[in-house]
This record gives sequence, structure tokens and C-alpha cells, in this order.
Amino acid sequence: MDSYDVVIAGGGPAGSSCAWKLQRSGLKTAILDRQIFPRHKVCGGWITPAVLDELGIDPAEYSTGRVLQPITGFRTSYMGGREIETHYGRPVSYGIRRFEFDDYLLKRSGATLFEGESLTRLERSGREWIVNGRLRSRMLVGAGGTFCPVARFLGAQVSRETVVAAQEAEFEMQGRQLSECAIRGEVPELYFCPDLKGYGWCFRKGNVMNVGLGRLDRHCLSKHVGEFLKFLRVTGKLSLDPAPELPGHAYLLFGETARDVAGEGVLLIGDAAGVAYAQSGEGIRPAIESGLLAADVITEAQGRYTRERLERYRFLLAERFGKSGGRLVRSIAQHLPAGLATAIGRRLLLNDWFVRRVVLDEWFLHRHERALHSSRADQSWTANAA
Ligand SMILES: Cc1cc2nc3c(=O)[nH]c(=O)nc-3n(C[C@H](O)[C@H](O)[C@H](O)COP(=O)(O)OP(=O)(O)OC[C@H]3O[C@@H](n4cnc5c(N)ncnc54)[C@H](O)[C@@H]3O)c2cc1C
Repeated sequence: MDSYDVVIAGGGPAGSSCAWKLQRSGLKTAILDRQIFPRHKVCGGWITPAVLDELGIDPAEYSTGRVLQPITGFRTSYMGGREIETHYGRPVSYGIRRFEFDDYLLKRSGATLFEGESLTRLERSGREWIVNGRLRSRMLVGAGGTFCPVARFLGAQVSRETVVAAQEAEFEMQGRQLSECAIRGEVPELYFCPDLKGYGWCFRKGNVMNVGLGRLDRHCLSKHVGEFLKFLRVTGKLSLDPAPELPGHAYLLFGETARDVAGEGVLLIGDAAGVAYAQSGEGIRPAIESGLLAADVITEAQGRYTRERLERYRFLLAERFGKSGGRLVRSIAQHLPAGLATAIGRRLLLNDWFVRRVVLDEWFLHRHERALHSSRADQSWTANAA
């Protein structure tokens, strides 16, 4: 049986970031993922610069041979309303392609990789975990996304949880579709649903387009997606004939789940822990940050992985993600009658100040939050913004 200090189930951004930090602390780490990388992941592929800072990734190095679309502004509105363009004059976000990004993070983590292997068996033997009957470790990290088997082992019941449901398509534009496309890579477009329960997006990355829509409730998601695609077609923003397939996925928002994220010899990170930002649905940065925080707590525990020692992780998550705003709008969307919520939402989204300072700076870009342990001496954009 192979023995490791830490075994991580799931090699997405959460798992690979956690492994990267653990390996740098000298802990022998293994990652198993049911898929072989590079693999497709349903996602818009929008990231904030803090993600690169936190992992010490040089944008110039990353973008050699991979897509890294600088984003310097946003066009926003409610569907059919007046559109507001907000410009920052420098990159405040990037567009990446998940199959490239996740593969890059996984390979640079330095962990021993077991790709194409699902976690199917989990046993406890004294203070050790035995994974799939062949990997042994004192510490286990669940990073397998919303339906993570480790989370389920700890009692998570996805069917009873409140999830964000989202669908997207990413495709290469060609011919007339490309030449007539009105959407620019550096200014992605965000269109809020009139009831404020979600938004549709268009992220262009060179010739590649990513369109999708996510909502706080999963009812009638495909109806909302259909209306959004029709809106894009009718307004001439993007020709979508034939309409692309939009695969969907669900994930949990921070503060909306009661998952037990820390136990005896085990932690949950990323979507498995339910840490995505509630206002924007951004999940990559919180996944990475939770992975880095978990790695710190594991390293500090110095091999004594008791529930008490790992409990600090729960506190660090609350400290990091508990203060993010957006509750007001969620309360409006969830508790007010639909007509009233729509009227309030439309007024707010027509206000240039509100869109820049609240919707973009606070909810989407988190300009008030410094990168976690920036690994670069120059904290670049995040420091300038603070
Ligand atoms: C439509 C949509 C659009 C989104 N757009 C954005 C966006 O633009 N920006 C953003 O920041 N966030 C976005 N998100 C959220 C973001 O995709 C997730 O929050 C993020 O991927 C979480 O990372 P993770 O590492 O926790 O999980 P994942 O990226 O899901 O990785 C989990 C890994 O675990 C593996 N796994 C699963 N089960 C097992 C098992 N039994 N054994 C072994 N391995 C297993 C999977 O193969 C996978 O590789 C979007 C989500 C959706 C659904």
C-alpha cells in the first residue's frame, strides 16, 4: 500500500492549490481525480487577478501557449435595459479556459497524481484513512466538487441543499458568427434576470465565446437560459444558429450550506465545502483560497490531525468569506414579491454609481479584499485597489 502524508480527492483548482502548498511545506501529497487531465469543466472561466497572485503565477509565463484574456471593463444591464459600460483602464479580471487552467495547476502542484481514478472506497483504520484499498494517509482532503464523495461520507445530502444552478457553452466562433460578433474580449457582458435571482454572461476569449446563465433557484433554469439566448440573438450581439448545447452543473454558496468542513483527519475545500461567493457565483478564487487555508492548517497541525486542531480551518473560512456583501440583494430577490424585486433591481442597475461601486467593485471584483498570502512582492492590482 502507498503511504502519503495527505491524500486529496479531486484535482480541480481547490485540490491542486492545496497540494501545491502542502508540497512546498514538505508534506508528501497524492491527488486522485476520476478524470484524466486536461478535462472539460462546465464554467465561464472568469478569474480575478488575486488568483494568480496567490499561486505565484506570472501572467506572461501562463499565457505562453494558453488563453489569458485580459478584462479591463464590463458592460452590464438587466436584460433589455440600458447598458452601462464601466472601464478600469487596466486588467481587473482575466478569461481562462478551464481545461488548460486546471491542467496547468494540477501539473505544477508537484503532487503524485492518480488520474482517471475515482475515490470509491474509504475506510478508517485506527488514525489512518485507506483510500480505494491502496492509498494510506493520516490526513484526507475532500476536493471533489459539489458531489464530493468525502463530503457525502461526512453526511452531506446534496438533494436537501440550496444550490446555484448554472448552464454554459464554450465554443470557437468561425465565419460570419466571428465577424459579426459584437462582444469584445476585454469588456465581457453581464445581463441580470429581471427578478435579480441570477444573470447571464458573455465572456469572449479571442475567437472563443463562453455564454451561460446561473440562478439562485434551479426551477425553470432552461426557460431562463432560452430567454437569454433569444435576447442575444434579437439584439444582434451574437448569432447562435444553431443554438449550442448548454450543459449544467450545481454548486453551493458560502453561508448557504451546513456541511461539516472539518473532522478527525479530514477537511473539505472548494465546492465540496460550499465556498463560492454568493453575489457573483465566483467559485475559483474561493476554491483556491480554501485550499491554501486548509494547507496552512494541516501544516501547522504537525501530524496531529485531531478534530480540535483542524477546527481552526472552519474559523478561517468564516473570517475570509463570512463578510462578503450582497445579502441585501439576495434578500430582495428571495423575500420580496417578484414584481417589487424587479422594480427595485431595475432602478439599481440603471444607476452608474451603483453598478461600478457595488455590483462590480464589491460583488464581482472584491476590490476591498487583498489577495490571500500574495506570493509576489508586488501585489499589483489587488494592492493598488485596497
Ligand atoms: C456554469 C458554471 C459557470 C461557472 N463560472 C465560473 C466563473 O466564470 N468563475 C468562477 O470563479 N467560478 C465559476 N463557476 C464555479 C466554479 O466552476 C467552481 O466553483 C470551481 O470549479 C470549484 O473548484 P473545485 O476545485 O472545488 O471543484 P471542481 O473544479 O469541480 O473539481 C473537482 C474535481 O473532483 C473530481 N472528482 C469528482 N468526484 C470524484 C471522485 N469520486 N473521485 C475522484 N475525483 C473526483 C472531478 O473530476 C473534478 O476534477 C461556475 C460554475 C458553473 C456551474
